[in-house]
Amino acid sequence: MSAFATRAARAGINRDPAHRAVVAPIHLSSAYAREQPGKVPDFDYARTAHPGRGLFEETVADLEGGCGAVATASGMAAIDLLLNDLPIGARIVAPVDAYGGTRRLLDARAAGKRFDVRYARSWDLDHLAASLADGADLLLLETPSNPLLRITDIAEASRLGHAAGARVAVDNTLLSPALQRPLDLGADCVIHSATKLINGHSDMVGGVLVETDPGRLDRHRWWANAAGTGLAAFDAYLALRGVRTLGIRAQAQSAAALKLARHLEESPEVAAVHYPGLPAHPGFALAARQQAGGGVVVSLELAPGLDTNRFLAALRLSTLAQSLGGVESLVSVPALMTHAAMTPGARAEAGISDRLIRLSVGLEDVGDLTGDLDRALAAA
Ligand SMILES: *Cc1c(COP(=O)(O)O)cnc(C)c1O
Repeated sequence: MSAFATRAARAGINRDPAHRAVVAPIHLSSAYAREQPGKVPDFDYARTAHPGRGLFEETVADLEGGCGAVATASGMAAIDLLLNDLPIGARIVAPVDAYGGTRRLLDARAAGKRFDVRYARSWDLDHLAASLADGADLLLLETPSNPLLRITDIAEASRLGHAAGARVAVDNTLLSPALQRPLDLGADCVIHSATKLINGHSDMVGGVLVETDPGRLDRHRWWANAAGTGLAAFDAYLALRGVRTLGIRAQAQSAAALKLARHLEESPEVAAVHYPGLPAHPGFALAARQQAGGGVVVSLELAPGLDTNRFLAALRLSTLAQSLGGVESLVSVPALMTHAAMTPGARAEAGISDRLIRLSVGLEDVGDLTGDLDRALAAA
């Protein structure tokens, strides 16, 4: 098999049988003509499938090492497909510091008595084992976690999940298959918000669920069609275009994030830096084993007495916006933005203080980014 960069760069290339276009075209047609009423063609109606969605699914499944994938209208829709496959009353174990939107969905389903959801400190294997002690149907992991970048041992957690009777799903949004391949470590399926690193240009919203079980893959595909949650043609085109440069983007942005994290660690205006590529991070050794880089997200807290709003207002190269993984640097305050849907109690349990600042490091020159942070720290 060729290397990651090769497979990514050639995603959807030379795949146009009609005109031999080098780059696969966008098929916006909602319907496809049949030769005969009873003869179902490969493509029939765009809710069910369209060529660009198929190419994107094939690409991400290949990069993650799965048997196939279903591309959805958002990352949350991919998570919902996974939940859809569980019986009423199923027991789900998920991280206490799961993405805010994931917690919102799980909490609402649990409140409606659809599922029994338990939150575990998944990075602490003893706590995870205790949370799985009564058995479980699904173990959902997210590593590194967002925004504190806690690292969960995927191989060990998968072993614990399987022993408890659960399928193991990993939300790999923060690293992408360029930096971490959960299926190689024992997970059963992978979820992505393709909105983030996979597309990488902050110009579409989408998700993907990668499976290792062909039967479940068919069921997910069936539900995505039945509920109409598949990825649209234009967005599939953008995601496929973005994924071609995924390897080089993820490596360069991760290297820049490490430099910034090291710099912030030395800055007297900064009280805490969370980044798994720093030796002081509790997950450093584990991240070095299971990841091919620390990732693009760094979070920090300013020293007491400094003002977070003054810091944010002084930044010129990081835009205050709640996403991550794009070529442009973004900054956010998770407690007020991405994780605002959580109750204050749930945020406290997850360790997300109101002073926590999350940086998503882009492709700008790292010297310029460092200078910008220094200026904003001095202004705080
Ligand atoms: C953004 C995000 C999601 C949700 O994805 P959407 O595309 O916004 O629906 C899920 N998990 C993580 C870790 C995310 O960052």
